Amino acid sequence: MNKYHLSESQLSAWDAVRSFSEGKIAPFAREIDETDEFPHGIFKDLAEHGYMGAPVSPEWGGAGCDAVTMCFILEEISRASGSVGCSYNAHVSLASSVIANHGSPEQKRKYLTALASGAKIGAFGLTEPSGGSNAGDPKTRAVRRGEAYVINGSKAFNTNGWVADIFVITARTDKGVSAFILERGMKGFTIGKPAKKMGAHGSPTSILYFDDVVIPEENLVGDEGTGFRAFAGTLDRARINVAALAVGLAQAALNSAVAYARADAVRKADRLLSGHSAPAGGDGHGARGGAALNPQRRTHVRRRHADQAGGRHGQILCCGSVVARLQQRD
Ligand SMILES: Cc1cc2nc3c(=O)[nH]c(=O)nc-3n(C[C@H](O)[C@H](O)[C@H](O)COP(=O)(O)OP(=O)(O)OC[C@H]3O[C@@H](n4cnc5c(N)ncnc54)[C@H](O)[C@@H]3O)c2cc1C
Repeated sequence: MNKYHLSESQLSAWDAVRSFSEGKIAPFAREIDETDEFPHGIFKDLAEHGYMGAPVSPEWGGAGCDAVTMCFILEEISRASGSVGCSYNAHVSLASSVIANHGSPEQKRKYLTALASGAKIGAFGLTEPSGGSNAGDPKTRAVRRGEAYVINGSKAFNTNGWVADIFVITARTDKGVSAFILERGMKGFTIGKPAKKMGAHGSPTSILYFDDVVIPEENLVGDEGTGFRAFAGTLDRARINVAALAVGLAQAALNSAVAYARADAVRKADRLLSGHSAPAGGDGHGARGGAALNPQRRTHVRRRHADQAGGRHGQILCCGSVVARLQQRD
């Protein structure tokens, strides 16, 4: 047991996701930011490595990871790319989680297994254009008609909406706020183009429109009137993962800042050393000049300057790196 009381399996899961993220996500972070396109290839890799169903029970095709392991997964993925972290979180911690914790066995068989394998991408629709804070009073309505519900309304800021296949949403019914599962392509269900956001580029955020969307009653999650509790509880658990996502972004920004500061300090040390070398060669007092320093002394001078710069100027110097800038902004 180490000082954080992590088990061997938690530590090895952490190592695995760190090397996955460094190898398969980080090299594309800048491209994702610049193109603002959803990285389908990375999500395919996440699926192939079992991450798309990480917290889901093995009974439904998931890996059954505990809450602490999920934090490492979110932290490392987000350290590599905050955008991938955002979309991944909406898929595992929000959409899949509602069905895992509140869905019927039939809903789990039909939808959760597809989400856990990564064959389908999930989205979670709670916020509405009229405001997200008052999520307990949705304007979206679901009216019962025979063995179906007819849904009218809209949802705003829907992470993954543009690319998702399975949507869990809330709507008001006669008995209160209820949760439903919708599928891409249902008649009357349209998805707005992704918003141009300041940050988290490549994690698409859309408005969903429901115009007389007819869904079968078996797509009601839990009982009528239990939807808000299900969504609020899901958000409470997901907030831990969102905190881990933020830790990953902060860690990445810190690492870039320190690396940049150290490199800058090495440049300064080099300038200092070569500045010394001119008079050293010119005035005949070469013994104290930079050019005359032995390699060990040179390394020592560089390291001293790197440490000083890292300590004093890390936050300012990080602005010099494009990747660091996007980490800072996201
Ligand atoms: C990038 C991104 C991705 C998102 N992804 C999703 C998603 O996948 N699914 C989803 O459902 N939502 C998503 N959201 C929405 C997010 O959850 C909402 O933005 C949030 O709930 C706040 O809602 P709002 O933006 O409508 O702000 P509003 O509710 O309009 O609030 C605006 C401001 O007013 C304040 N305020 C509100 N009511 C009161 C009051 N009564 N008294 C005092 N102050 C008040 C708020 O604190 C806030 O500062 C996403 C948002 C973003 C930016």
